[in-house]
Amino acid sequence: MSGLSTTDGLLAGDPLSGLSVRTEAFIDGRFVAAADGRTFSDVSPRDGRVVAEVARGAAVDIDRAVGAARRAFDEGTWALADPAQRRRVLLRLAELMAEHAEELARLESVDVGHPITDARTVDVVNATRCITFYAEAIDKLYGEIAPTGVDDLALVGREPIGVVGAVVPWNYPLIVTCWKLGPALAMGNSVVLKPAEQSPLSALRLVELASEAGLPDGVLNVVPGFGEEAGEPLGRHPDVDKIAFTGSVAVGRLFLRYAGESNGKGVALELGGKSPQIVLADVDDLEAAAQAIGWGIFYNAGQTCHAGSRLIVAREVRDELVERLIAFAGEMSPGDPFDPATQLGSLVSDEHLRSVLGHIGRARDDGALVLFGGEPAAPVAGGAYLGPTLVQAERATLPIVQEEVFGPVLAIQTADDADHALALANATRYGLAAAVWTSDLTSAGRLARRLRAGTVWINSFDRSSMATPFGGMKESGHGRDRSLHALDGYSHLKTTWIHLG
Ligand code: NAD
Repeated sequence: MSGLSTTDGLLAGDPLSGLSVRTEAFIDGRFVAAADGRTFSDVSPRDGRVVAEVARGAAVDIDRAVGAARRAFDEGTWALADPAQRRRVLLRLAELMAEHAEELARLESVDVGHPITDARTVDVVNATRCITFYAEAIDKLYGEIAPTGVDDLALVGREPIGVVGAVVPWNYPLIVTCWKLGPALAMGNSVVLKPAEQSPLSALRLVELASEAGLPDGVLNVVPGFGEEAGEPLGRHPDVDKIAFTGSVAVGRLFLRYAGESNGKGVALELGGKSPQIVLADVDDLEAAAQAIGWGIFYNAGQTCHAGSRLIVAREVRDELVERLIAFAGEMSPGDPFDPATQLGSLVSDEHLRSVLGHIGRARDDGALVLFGGEPAAPVAGGAYLGPTLVQAERATLPIVQEEVFGPVLAIQTADDADHALALANATRYGLAAAVWTSDLTSAGRLARRLRAGTVWINSFDRSSMATPFGGMKESGHGRDRSLHALDGYSHLKTTWIHLG
């Protein structure tokens, strides 16, 4: 099995030079080829080149991985270990991630086109912080004693669920993977991880580091591959106790079906979004709002589940805000993800670029006005690039307002007053996040209470920490990543009733 190609044909000083990563599946503590020997080409969206041939996992590989995870769980080396021991191993993993931060950042950047500076300062840092958070939490959790009569003692404690199948998307591969692995492993579960086919590299390096940190064989397995070939068998496997899924609404629903048609396993869903940024007429600092709204949609080229992809702005301040947004967008052209100065990298693939352009074309056909951008760019030949795009789309039913475009495209609507803004904001099937910009904290608080979204920011956007839960309402799903609450998704409550009489 070939690993990542490191130097062939790459630029001098290219961030890939000197890198190597194993690209087989990782099952039961070692790298193994797919059972049928098949691989798939991992293409970098930076320039359209193949950077690695990766094991193409299928049902038989998933079965081996689940078998290893089950054996490890039943043996109890990890599941029954003193929490302080799990803490030590996970803290060691976080240390190794920090030591290998540059390497992980480069793998992430080449795989999905993230600007290298963001990969270094956001992706790797947050992923490492996540592992540290759960490592440090896990030996400080207490159980409960339930109220009973004096003749009984009823203990309520947490236990790991068993074998967890984690299926993750490509938009923040390392961060979302660690949002699953941190709480699942800290709690003592075994995991079979299926990374997205667009972005397997950082997960494969991560599992190697986890093994080096002392995670017992079989506790964490990684099977790369495609959704229908590897994701579905994991979702349908009768020996998987829980699926932790992040991705699109359509595939999330498939996992519910897989569970229903197999063993009724639990399914946690973290799905898409169409987050509104509401700007009221009394907004305090329009320039601060414009900056945050610009970053909120253009960061990571708009490929963020909670991206603020809808602007709902009061008529009184609309023109001035749009002017400021056009100025902001004008200063942010796409660049080579490997250039440390780049703020806007590539989209994840040429196929995805075509899908985003299709949304913009349809919006034009629907009568929406493209105020800025909308055309592909080519800072690196062969790559998938699109500049910031602003679309005025007043009709609330238009697809550009309703559907998750997942690109650097902001749909702008005008509101007559706060109630109208609220009605527009809630009028999609999504409910992941929202923001309100106003100098009146009373109306901000009222709107926040009535916005159907898992997170509402007031006079800010995308501020977060590991201490706050993240997840959606409505069709954005129902799971919660981050914070101590995430541990609930990876544990059962067990009652042990002792009769003393
Ligand atoms: P996707 O649903 O296409 O794929 C996600 C994962 O599911 C991948 O690993 C893929 O291989 C697998 N998959 C695809 N088809 C499958 C099938 N038929 N059976 C089993 N598995 C299958 O999503 P994507 O395009 O990779 O990611 C983008 C989506 O993820 C967006 O909708 C985004 O909003 C969402 N997302 C949500 C959050 C959140 O926390 N709510 C975070 C990041 C991304």
